[in-house]
Amino acid sequence: MPLIDLSHPLTDDTPPFPGDPAVAIKILQSTDQTGREERQSLNCAQITLPIHCATHIDAPFHFYADRATIDQIPLADCAGPAYKIDLCECPVIDEIDLAPHRDAIAGHPHLIINTGWYEQWRQPGFFSEHPVLTAAAAQLIVDCKVRLIGVDFPSVDRPPHPAHLVLLGHDVLIVENLTNLAEIGDNAFTFSAIPLAIAGRDGSPVRAFATIAE
Ligand SMILES: [Zn+2]
Repeated sequence: MPLIDLSHPLTDDTPPFPGDPAVAIKILQSTDQTGREERQSLNCAQITLPIHCATHIDAPFHFYADRATIDQIPLADCAGPAYKIDLCECPVIDEIDLAPHRDAIAGHPHLIINTGWYEQWRQPGFFSEHPVLTAAAAQLIVDCKVRLIGVDFPSVDRPPHPAHLVLLGHDVLIVENLTNLAEIGDNAFTFSAIPLAIAGRDGSPVRAFATIAE
């Protein structure tokens, strides 16, 4: 089954969300160390990163202290049949943009929105000019009983976070910063984005991928 990786790589220079600290990858042991004394028999590193960096998932606890943390969300909601909408001309995604797809959205537990914004990764304006979802668009997604929405931009909205509040307030998981979405084309696919079991926290980095149906 063909798999398409939808994740940005994590590197020392992966751009964090503005205001968050940088990613740091520290080599603890390396087989490249050639001095006799220092030579190690294995490679081992430590990574430090803010949770809402690169391709990641938001748990309801991200905006609601009394809702599920990332280790509490149902894993079954993190992988399943998905429907992709291409909205490359929409800086503001409103209910009217999703309404023509309503039946297809309601027929899949996962909704992936491709705006093409992922091609702006590392460009100026990536974090400041990205598309957003309105509260009404988020409510349509909730009404369609979607369990997870994935987008190719760094946040589904900006403060005061109308879309985050509607989605996470109804336990709809949010995956942000997907990439490579054009490679899915018009194929039927399942979407997977499995979080780490970070106890009591608001989200997790994920390896997100599409599995094209046979
Ligand atoms: Zn996030």
